[in-house]
Amino acid sequence: MPWTPTPEDDRRFMDLALAQARKSWDEGGVPIGAVLVHDGEVLAAGHNQRFQKDSAILHGETDTIEKAGRLPASVYRSSVLYTTLSPCIMCAGTALLYEIPRIVVGENRTFEMSEALLAERGVQVDVLDDPACLALMERMLAERPALWSEDIGVEAGETAKAAR
Ligand SMILES: [Zn+2]
Repeated sequence: MPWTPTPEDDRRFMDLALAQARKSWDEGGVPIGAVLVHDGEVLAAGHNQRFQKDSAILHGETDTIEKAGRLPASVYRSSVLYTTLSPCIMCAGTALLYEIPRIVVGENRTFEMSEALLAERGVQVDVLDDPACLALMERMLAERPALWSEDIGVEAGETAKAAR
């Protein structure tokens, strides 16, 4: 990878993802945002669209990858995906398909489903354990629990299964 992000870069791009997450929350949605970065340049920023677009598959990460449009394999393979929350199996699968080599995660205390799978496939996952990302998700779980259950494909009160 010709471009190696510094911790300051990681912080800056996570802040962009966080701004997307806050936007989604303010719209009544799920507060998860993401940014896809290549060579220090933002290719796309997005957020969960379940509520906004009545979408079953546009999570923070998939919305961002969708917004980035058609890219050559070589671009995915040298990009970094920033996401405010640890990816679900669908978003991890998208990242695995395109061989995105590194995912920077805001927090994984409220949800963690795919990190073992990603690690097994050689993806570098760096968790920032960011208090602002955590606070947003804690608010989500407290105030919109039904929307969250829907988002991860479980019935109310069920917990998500880890991917193996
Ligand atoms: Zn997802």
